[in-house]
Amino acid sequence: MSEWFDEVYQDNLRLGLRVLKHVYHSQSKFQTIDIVDTEMYGRALALDGCFMTSDKEEFFYHESLVHPVLCSAPCIEKVLIIGGGDGGTSREVLRYAEVQNVRLVEIDGEVVEACKEHMPHIGGSAWQDPRLDLRIEDGVAYVKQEQSGIYDIILLDSTDPIGPGVGLFNREFYAECKRLLKPHGVLALQSESPVMMPKGFASIQHNLRAVFPKVFPYFGPVPIYNTGIWSWTYASAEATPHETNAARVNMIVPGCRYYNEAVHRGMFAVPNYVKGLLHSDPLTLEKQTDNKVKAAPLA
Ligand code: SAM
Repeated sequence: MSEWFDEVYQDNLRLGLRVLKHVYHSQSKFQTIDIVDTEMYGRALALDGCFMTSDKEEFFYHESLVHPVLCSAPCIEKVLIIGGGDGGTSREVLRYAEVQNVRLVEIDGEVVEACKEHMPHIGGSAWQDPRLDLRIEDGVAYVKQEQSGIYDIILLDSTDPIGPGVGLFNREFYAECKRLLKPHGVLALQSESPVMMPKGFASIQHNLRAVFPKVFPYFGPVPIYNTGIWSWTYASAEATPHETNAARVNMIVPGCRYYNEAVHRGMFAVPNYVKGLLHSDPLTLEKQTDNKVKAAPLA
């Protein structure tokens, strides 16, 4: 009888994947790291018991975080990625010849080493790409000491606002990211599920709007996140995601399994219930509890 690996949200929702083999388990300085072979999605990564990504469905998330931004941003030469220890976001960014370098700031070196060894195709050729500059450090500390106005793109590919990820979800951190961006620069981040974490999602939007003049959430499925819908958010001082760069789209789409021009446009359509969340007062949302078992209140 094979085993199950359950991700637990409070007592009222579980996501269980039938597991064929427990490939890796470790308690790093920052989190519990598990890599399991699952029937449904192949090899999967979980951090602190939360599913992050898997071989079979990782493209939904990584293509969604990267291509709506890099196919529309004015310039994509200098890229900062915070988090992203599995390498999937770096892999997708480095597919653009215009990208001159990518600094990947990941707090937990054990995640990188475990994914390189046990899930090598997620990072793919990124790990050997001379344009990739991997730094094992806390993204919160990194942005504080970095000089201003040096990045065209910043991508926050983080865990949820729990554990080491908490500091990546507040107004001060977003203000530091804005300082590191060039005037035409774009910040994009995974911004949780408006279904499972309505309070967390709305708080992220409110915090971004306090820092950036232009904020555009966008939506799509991530099969291994048991929420039906996930969100990412595009934030900038000047740029908008609505005009795509045809040359970049024509180059990137043939190698994509999710992203294309029509998907790009559809992702930025905001469902009515989400519009309600965006116009809600953060304080009234305080009464709602999010369904993340360990979510810390977003600052
Ligand atoms: N959610 C992604 C997906 O679905 O493919 C995977 C995200 S990646 C595994 C999340 C990474 O963020 C983890 O490797 C974690 O160690 C890293 N992280 C969390 N807090 C961080 C921080 N403060 N600075 C840098 N990296 C951080």
